[in-house]
Amino acid sequence: MSEDCIFCKIANGIIPTEFVHTSANTVVFKDINPKAPIHLLVVPKKHIPTLNDLEDRELMSELLQSVKDVTKKLNISDYKTQINTGKGAGQEVFHLHIHILANKEG
Ligand code: AMP
Ligand code: ZN
Repeated sequence: MSEDCIFCKIANGIIPTEFVHTSANTVVFKDINPKAPIHLLVVPKKHIPTLNDLEDRELMSELLQSVKDVTKKLNISDYKTQINTGKGAGQEVFHLHIHILANKEG
């Protein structure tokens, strides 16, 4: 847990947030500034700044499994995923997250 990291605070319950889905090592919540009708963020509970810092292969697969599980749960079959890595690519929150963007549920 990184003290000044907003996603650490969300993932560890310090900032109360409604989770759309959780798994052992990940949480999924709504993006505060949605860029599509459905905009979710899949976030590891552990503080990992960027994809370049992710070395745990089990966590890699769990993150992608969470994408599949939450979209299935919400009946979303068509969606985009995005991972911004580094300032130059537009990353603003330096706690790894996968964006899920979709137009509608079901
Ligand atoms: P990125 O540019 O990939 O780092 O995206 C960061 C995303 O986090 C943006 O889409 C923001 O709208 C979103 N975001 C920032 N703060 C919060 C927050 N407190 N709760 C939910 N989403 C947030
Ligand atoms: Zn963090």
